[in-house]
This record gives sequence, C-alpha cells and structure tokens, in this order.
Amino acid sequence: MLDFLGTRQRTHTCGQLRAADAGQTVTLMGWVNRRRDHGNLIFLDLRDRYGITQIVLDKEISPEGHPKAEHVRPEYVVAAIGKVRLRGPESVNPKMPTGEIEIAATELLVLNDSKVPPFSPAEDAIQNEEVRLKYRYLDLRRPEMAHNLEIRHKVALAMREYLNAQGFFEIETPFLTRSTPEGARDYLVPSRVHPAHFYALPQSPQLFKQILMISGLDKYFQIVRCFRDEDLRADRQPEFTQIDLEMTFPQQDTIFQVVEGFLKSAFEVTGEKISTPFPRMTYDEAIRLYGIDKPDLRLPPMTGVRDVFTAEEVASLKIEPGLPIVAIVIPGKQAMSNTQKKAFAQEINAAVAPDLAYLDIDRLAAAPQFAALAQRIDAAAAKNCGLARVEPDHRLIVVSPRIGATPPARDHLWLYKKAGQLRLDLAKRFQDEHKAFAKKGTSDDYKFLWVTDFPFFEWDEATKTWTFAHHPFTSPHEDDLLAGRMTSDPENVRALAYDIVLNGLELGSGSIRIHRQDVQQQIFRALGMSDEEAKDRFGFFLEALQYGTPPHGGIALGLDRLVMILAGASSLREVIAFPKTAKAIDLMVDAPTPVSDAQLKELHIRPALRG
Ligand code: ASP
Repeated sequence: MLDFLGTRQRTHTCGQLRAADAGQTVTLMGWVNRRRDHGNLIFLDLRDRYGITQIVLDKEISPEGHPKAEHVRPEYVVAAIGKVRLRGPESVNPKMPTGEIEIAATELLVLNDSKVPPFSPAEDAIQNEEVRLKYRYLDLRRPEMAHNLEIRHKVALAMREYLNAQGFFEIETPFLTRSTPEGARDYLVPSRVHPAHFYALPQSPQLFKQILMISGLDKYFQIVRCFRDEDLRADRQPEFTQIDLEMTFPQQDTIFQVVEGFLKSAFEVTGEKISTPFPRMTYDEAIRLYGIDKPDLRLPPMTGVRDVFTAEEVASLKIEPGLPIVAIVIPGKQAMSNTQKKAFAQEINAAVAPDLAYLDIDRLAAAPQFAALAQRIDAAAAKNCGLARVEPDHRLIVVSPRIGATPPARDHLWLYKKAGQLRLDLAKRFQDEHKAFAKKGTSDDYKFLWVTDFPFFEWDEATKTWTFAHHPFTSPHEDDLLAGRMTSDPENVRALAYDIVLNGLELGSGSIRIHRQDVQQQIFRALGMSDEEAKDRFGFFLEALQYGTPPHGGIALGLDRLVMILAGASSLREVIAFPKTAKAIDLMVDAPTPVSDAQLKELHIRPALRG
C-alpha cells in the first residue's frame, strides 16, 4: 500500500544535514539507495541528487514505520520524518558528507514503489552501455552522472556570465532552415505545406551569425545545438552543442582574448586553473614539430635532424637526400631486451613503410662508421625536443625517407605527418611508462594551443579539385589575395582560420570572414562553383553582403568535448543527458522509427521509399 504525500514538504535534501543539525525534526524525501535489515532496526540509505542520508527505523520509536520499511526495496521513493541525531563514534562514516548523523524516523511514507531495476544506481556504471542508455533515467540517478551534468551546467553558466559581461547578446537562430555547409550531410525535414520541399537542420548557425553582424548586433553568442549527418565515430554525436560566437571589427587577437577569458571562467568554476594567454603556432609549424594540426603539447615535439648527417652518411644509409629526417623522443620508455628491440624495429619499419624507414640508433651507435653520427643525432634530438638529454630510458626514434620516396600529390608536409602519426601511436602505447597524459593537479594538465594560418584550400584526391579546408566564408590572408595566389598558387594560400586545441583535441575552430561580396564570389569561383550555383545556394547571403557588411569573425567550440575533458569522462555520452549510440540511435525513446503511411502521405513522401 502506497502512502499519499498530502501537504508534506521536504525540509532538507539528502546531502545537507551535518552534526550541527542534531536535534532538529526534519522531513527528507528520496530514493532508497540501500536497505539493511537488522531485525528491530532497519537502515535505509536515502538518496537524491545532493547526497545520501541514513534513516533508521526503530521498532520502538516508529511502530508504524518499521513494518513499512520491511517491505521497502531499492529505488522505492519514500519520505522520512524524524529527528537528526549524532551517530555513535563507531558508526560515523567519514567518507560520507552526512556520515556523522542519521535520522531517527518517527514516520515513514512510501510514496512509490519500483520494479527491480536492470542495474542498481547505487553501483558504478555497468559495462553494458546499451542497457545504461535504454534505462537512462536510472543511469542518471548515479551520482557520477549527476556530477557530470552539474559540471556541464556550471560551465555553460560561467560562459554565459562572462560573455554577458563582455557585452555579447545571446540570440537564437532557426533550426528549420536551409542547408549551410560545414562539410557534412544535412538532416532534412520535409515540408507538409510545400510538397517536395525540405528544411535542413543547421550544421551550425554560421550564416545567421554573420548576418547578425551585418545587422549591427556587434557581439553575438549562442550555446546552440548543431546537426550533422556524418559517418559516426566514437567521439561524435549527430546532434551536439557548440558555444558559437561572432564579433564585428575583430582581429584574431580580439577573438582569442574572448575565448581565453570564457575558458578561464569555465575552468575556474570546476576548480581547475589554466594560464592565459595560450601559446600560438602556425599550421606549418604544428605539422613540422608535431606532424599534426592539433598538437598535444604534453609530449616533446619532433625535430628535423637532417643537418647532422654528412652527404656520405646519407648515401650509405640509402636516404633520399632532398627530404627531411625526423627524430621523435618517447620519454621514459623502459629498456628493452634485444629480442624486443628487434620486434620493435620491425614494427616501426612496417608502420612507416613504404616511403620511410627506421634508423635504429642503437645499431648506428654499435657500427664504427656511424657511432659519431648516432651521438650527433642524440644531441640534436635532445636539444630540439626541449630535453636536457636523451636519457637511456627515452626511446629515440628516427625515421628517414627511403631513396625514391614520393610524396602523395600536393602535400609538402606528408613526411612530417607520417612521423607525427607514429609519434602519437607510440606515445599512446607507452603512456603507462611515460605518464605524460596522467593528471598531475597543476596547470600543466591542460595544454592549450592556438593553431593559425591554416591552408585555405584542401586537395580532394577523389574529385581532383581544390575544396575549402574550413568553410567557404573564411577569409583568405589579405596578402595572398593581393598577390593573386588564389589562382596562381592555391596550395600556398593561407586562411585567416584558427583552431583551439587542448591536449591534442580540437576544441573549436573559427575564422575572420569574407565581408566583401566580390571576394566571396571569387572564392566560390575558385572552389569551382558557377555564379548560378552560388546564387542558387547562397543567394540570400550574397545579397546581404551587398548592404554594408562590416569586417567580422568568430569561432565555435564544442561544449560536449570541453565538459568531457573537465569531467574526466571517457566519452561524450557521459556528459550528454540523452545521447545517441555510435549508430545514431536513441535507445531510450527508440528513435529513429518508421512512421505511419498517413504521416508520410501528408508529407508527400511515398511509403514505397521505406526500407
Ligand atoms: N561554423 C564553424 C563550425 O561550426 C565555426 C566558425 O567558423 O565560427 O565549425
């Protein structure tokens, strides 16, 4: 038999009461986390979002409540009314914030019962994530999940407060809109009123925020959902949240300062310190030093060591003379046996094949004619990688281009990229030894970086054309425009685009935009889009650009990813209340689903189209 709530109200949460509250009469409400039956005494751990408080049902004190407690089970919802009392010294629980007290209940109301849950919210997350997602409401009862959502809330609030103080307006933009390109497929919504016409869900509010600048709103931001129908990977969600912003008359620096400011606030509210300003690196530097456009600065950079080789050494080691030789240091790699070394060498050779080869420093050092070279490489690598010296327990990996090594078409940095991939793979593999990724509780835990001067164009091998590397509203570097490189030398045109990187993860990207209609048209042409096609797709925007568009720029950062890092979570799904699986399914509501023929008909879609 369930009890009615009547007019009762809770007086405190389950995480609130302390020793100083002893003697007060209180009413707590919550879920039964655990129940222990000691005959005349029954203990209920009562849980809500705020914590857990121990309730005692003593047959003597509560002759009516005690028998009810006998029937109560985990996840029942109860109200307990009684006095706060100090626990005896032997039963104080120092691990619980409420561990010094308990409630001697005089009354117990059973407000609701519960089926036996498929897993217990009182325990750590179960392995089977599908079950967790199907019963998300139970999973979210776990304190860890509530904590993650609390971090998310605090981070979003801190950013809003910061941006508000800087004069930004939060302005909503439509979800039912037309396609704006961010390089992914659109989610389409059929129109009932306009047969065979579709809205697209925004991949980002890109054009709207630019139009808000044309409208003179000056500083815009929005914590906004974006939708991209991409091939899913573990760290992607079809709908995700961005902190999106745009400003009028900015230099890159203006935007960097705003972002550094709100990130500082966001980290502070979660008890983490970061130092600003963040270091900066051009795209070219990033690739040469780290082999990737999102360097993880927790690891030492790579270094070119071509200079320390003589021409004879290059020739006798069968190295392509015109190409760089790259050294990577993996710190703290434990010594290996000879058999292990051999296997390791084979593995690296295979990883960098066919164009690169592994120069084994130990073998060079052992060969009389190369011993001096080995020493020079060692010294150069230590110096350039920012280490005192390459310790014996560091692993120095040198990759050199084989004779005849040919770069993939139009990619002058291919060699560094390949070496950089190896660097990352090895760093991940040996992380238990070098511990560079382990949290140390200092500001070194968060290595931020701005990467600037991205190439404007990307070569698309499939279509054999140049395509935009960022999005087509990004401004090229003014110098490159003036020098006419758009047509004469597209490969070397730089974009006024920047990424913010944290610990090797891209947190966000943005750019200074094109504000002139003639330049925008030139870019569309350079991308192989005819004027008609451009007008058809972006006519409204090209039109707007002609009405006094100010210089403007902005950025968008992924909120889910940021919160994931701050919560120390292993996946985006841990910080999104109702996420989708890697196959884009919402297991709780069971979406997507087929719809009725009648609904399809209304939308002018023929049922035959259904799979
Ligand atoms: N719209 C871009 C994105 O979603 C960000 C920007 O350029 O502001 O990546």
